[in-house]
Amino acid sequence: MKDVRVRFAPSPTGPLHMGGVRTALFNYLLAKQNGGKMILRIEDTDQTRLVPGAEAYIKESLAWTGIKFDEGIDGKGDFGPYKQSERKDIYQKYIRELLDSGKAYYAFDTPENLEEIRKEYETKGERFMYNFATRNQMDNSLSMTSNEVEERLAKGDPYVIRFKIPENQEIAMYDLVRGEVLVNSNTLDDKVLMKSDGLPTYHLANIVDDHLMQISHVIRGEEWLPSLPLHYLLYEAFGWNKPQFAHLPLIMKPVGKGKLSKRDGAKMGFPVFPLQWQDPKTGEIYAGYKEDGYFPESFVNLLALLGWNPGTEQEIFTMDELIELFDLSRVNKSGAKFDPEKAKWFQHQHLQKKSIEELVDLFVPVLQAQLGYTIEGKAIRDYSKKVIELLKDRATFVKDFWEQGAFFFTAPTDYAPKAVKKQWKTQTSDLMQEVIELLKDIEPWEAASIKEKLSDWINTKEIGFGKVMQPLRLSLVGDLKGPDLFVILEMLGKNETLKRIESAVEKLSK
Ligand code: GLU
Repeated sequence: MKDVRVRFAPSPTGPLHMGGVRTALFNYLLAKQNGGKMILRIEDTDQTRLVPGAEAYIKESLAWTGIKFDEGIDGKGDFGPYKQSERKDIYQKYIRELLDSGKAYYAFDTPENLEEIRKEYETKGERFMYNFATRNQMDNSLSMTSNEVEERLAKGDPYVIRFKIPENQEIAMYDLVRGEVLVNSNTLDDKVLMKSDGLPTYHLANIVDDHLMQISHVIRGEEWLPSLPLHYLLYEAFGWNKPQFAHLPLIMKPVGKGKLSKRDGAKMGFPVFPLQWQDPKTGEIYAGYKEDGYFPESFVNLLALLGWNPGTEQEIFTMDELIELFDLSRVNKSGAKFDPEKAKWFQHQHLQKKSIEELVDLFVPVLQAQLGYTIEGKAIRDYSKKVIELLKDRATFVKDFWEQGAFFFTAPTDYAPKAVKKQWKTQTSDLMQEVIELLKDIEPWEAASIKEKLSDWINTKEIGFGKVMQPLRLSLVGDLKGPDLFVILEMLGKNETLKRIESAVEKLSK
C-alpha cells in the first residue's frame, strides 16, 4: 500500500472509551504495517461540548497503550495545526467555495421556527426533513435575492450554512469492512456545515481536514456510517478524491443488547476506560484498566480481538505481532460482545509471559506502598522473587502477589473467623505449643527437613495430619489458603514462624 496516512480524530468531550482506543489502535496497526503515518487530530469545533481535562486524558491514555503518533502532537507534522479550533480560517475558505458554487446556502430559520415545523409534521405523523422538498419554503438564501441575504447578514441575523443535498441521487459507497453500501440522497437532510459562531460542524471540518492532511484511510466507529453518504457528497462537491473508509463494529454489552457503556462497567465492576476518569461535573470516578492493574500490552491485545481475528487459533499477541498480522478485511461486520472475564484472561496470559525479574521490578513498588516503608537491597528482591515464583501461576495482576501473599511479608493481624471456628479447637493451643518445641530444634531450616520431622511427629502422636497442619497454616497465614505450607515455613524463617505460632496461641486460645 502506498503512502498510508491515517488519523485518529477524537473530540475532547469526555474520557476516551475503550472503543475509541480500539479505533486508534486499528489505525495505528495499519499505519505501522505499511510504513505510513499516524496522525492525531483534535476535533473540538463543538465548543459547547468540550470537557476540561478530556484532551489531556486522551493523550495520556494513548501514550499508556503504546500507540504513537507521527504527527499532530508536540508540534510534529507539516499539515498542522492539528486542532480544529485553530483552523477556523481554513474552513472559511472552503465554505465560501461551496456557497459560491451554489452547493451550500445560508439558512436563517430560528431554532423556535424549526421546532414548530417539526411539531406540525409530527402531529401529521410525519418527520420533517430540511431537504429538496421543503427548503424553498424555509427562511434561507435560496428563497431570497442576494441583496436580501446581504441585508440579513449585515443586520447580524443568526444563521447557519447548510449543504444542498442533491435530489434523488443514488450514492454508491464502498466500505472496507462492509463492502458496497447504497443510499438514496432523498433520505438525507441538508446538514448544517457551519454555525453562527463561524465554526464548522464535524462534517465539514472532518472532510476538509482529511483532504488537506492527505488521509488515505478513514477508520472509525460504526456510529459514523450514517454520515458516510453526506461525506461522499461533500467530497464530490469539492471535486476531491476520497480516502478509503472502514467502519469498525460496535463493542457490545457483556449481557443484553446494545453498546457497551460506562454504566455497564460501573454496574458489573470492570473498566471501560483506559485510565481512571473523574467526571469534573459530578465528581464520579470511573475505573481505568491501568489503575485496575492491566498491562498496556494486555489491554491492546484484548482490544485487537474485539472485532478482528487473525483467522487462526492464536489469541495472544504483542504489538509487533499485531502490526504484522492485522488485516482490515478480517474485521467483522457485526458487533463484538465484550467479555470482562476474557479481558482478565488476556491479562493473566501476559503476566505469565513476563520474566520473574520483570515481575519483581513491578512488584517491589507495590510492596513498598503496602508496607508503608522502603526496603532497599538485594535481600528483599530475592525474597520477592521466591514469593512471585510460588504465586505466579495463579496470579492475574501484580497486585495479586500482595493480595495472595501479604503473609510472606507481614504477620497476620487477624484470622479468618470461619477457619478459626473450624480448625482451632480446645486442644489446638496445647498442640501448637508442642509444635513450637519441635520446630525449635529443626536444623537445617528447609522445607524438606521440616516436612520430615513434622510428619514423623504427627505419625507417632497418631493424630490426623490436618489437626496440626490447618492450625499451623492459620497461625502463619491468617487463613487456610496459600502455597505449600513447608515452603512457607522455610521462607518465613524459624524465628518468624515461632513468633507467629506463639501469637496465634495467645490470640486464639479459648
Ligand atoms: N470526532 C469524531 C469522533 O469523536 C471523529 C469521527 C471520525 O473519525 O470521522 O469520533
